[in-house]
Amino acid sequence: MTHQMPQLPYASSALEPVISQQTIEFHYGKHLQTYVNNLNNLVKGTEFEDKNVEFIAAHAPEGAIFNNAGQVLNHTLYFLQFSPAPDHKEPTDKLAEAIVRDFGSFENFKKEFNAAGVSLFGSGWAWLSADKEGKLHITKEPNGSNPVRNGLTPLLCFDVWEHAYYLDYQNRRADHLNALWEIIDWDVVGTRLG
Ligand code: MN
Repeated sequence: MTHQMPQLPYASSALEPVISQQTIEFHYGKHLQTYVNNLNNLVKGTEFEDKNVEFIAAHAPEGAIFNNAGQVLNHTLYFLQFSPAPDHKEPTDKLAEAIVRDFGSFENFKKEFNAAGVSLFGSGWAWLSADKEGKLHITKEPNGSNPVRNGLTPLLCFDVWEHAYYLDYQNRRADHLNALWEIIDWDVVGTRLG
């Protein structure tokens, strides 16, 4: 199968000022495109040639195929979780209940999620995911990894690679992560919980 770029449901300038058009053009247009191209080239003639990106990210051994599949999956979930004008500023329904159950409150969840992103050393991702019983987990994944590697269902992610924020925020990773809450599309994130 040929891996494809996700189609953005918003214009490249629509997430400003949280994420600038220039960052979208580099991060989506260049970085993600490179991961997609690399993955398509790398899987040719391998056992992963006909596998979808979730399978490859979960099962490929450490190495180039895993790194690029992870980054394709991560960025697809990342770019599709945003909206310039979300209908809700907070989770709703089942996801809202699960967050209160597992983190005490939405405010406390945001605090813990921000802390995971800020404290991740080097390049990687902060994730909210759900296990098979529906319990929620915040994890820090290095480099291109994804919670699917541990059998979890990924729901929400913050990319803390410097390419995600350096053009707009330079070294101020915490300020960037704080701003991301403004553009999270909670309907999309809630749908991932099932
Ligand atoms: Mn990235």
